[in-house]
Amino acid sequence: MIKLKPRPELPKTLASNRVRDFAEGLKRRVDDGTVLQSEDFESAYWRKNDVKKALFTMHSGKCCYCERKRDEKRETDVEHYRPKACVSDNPKHPGYWWLAYKWDNYLHSCKKCNQEHKINQFPLMDESQRAYTPDAGIAGERPFLINPENENPEDFIGFEWSRAYGVFVKAVGFDPEGRGERTIKITGINEGTILEERASLVKELEEIVDTMKCALRAEKPNLIKRTAAKIKETSRSEKQYAGFRRAFYRGNGLGDYVAND
Ligand SMILES: [Zn+2]
Repeated sequence: MIKLKPRPELPKTLASNRVRDFAEGLKRRVDDGTVLQSEDFESAYWRKNDVKKALFTMHSGKCCYCERKRDEKRETDVEHYRPKACVSDNPKHPGYWWLAYKWDNYLHSCKKCNQEHKINQFPLMDESQRAYTPDAGIAGERPFLINPENENPEDFIGFEWSRAYGVFVKAVGFDPEGRGERTIKITGINEGTILEERASLVKELEEIVDTMKCALRAEKPNLIKRTAAKIKETSRSEKQYAGFRRAFYRGNGLGDYVAND
């Protein structure tokens, strides 16, 4: 995970009267005592092209959790950071239904992270601070799940790599509150083939690191300049697994050359 680009302005669909009326209709139903279910929400609005396109740009075309690049139409979801219809960590909670059409509750994730792992998880550090209604406000909530829009995941999650038993690259949380570790579990970014997919980058990154170390030792300014450009290019935000790439360079003492876009 890496920090996302600034959120684009509100897409037209979400600013439309249609969506506003629909959201008000949901509120009336809740006020009348209805407990909303997933099927009560109209997903066509958040699936509209302008909404998905804006998120795609903000996320450099990648899943906000696992950083895989996926086909925009077939393999990605508009993910509700705060789940809309229920919260699996708290069966009494009705879900954050009032945020179902709020632009700043949307992230772009792959179907695997959203539908197989995160689903309706949204654990809080202090459950007593959870907002049950729109009026309660969410400002007092301290979620475990890192929000890559306004927090830098690289402050919470690093990577370990090893060649001892075949190459693998594992995400590891390192913050004292355990948010990194918990985020890794919630999003499943250490599950399945992703460990090997990340590891497939190691050879390429090692070669760049070796070249840079030699260039620095031998004090070859041209080679240092060329390799510095390569480190920057290969760790830019739009690259798959940019979080790991940056951690690899930093772990090899080359953090000064890493892209910070
Ligand atoms: Zn993903």
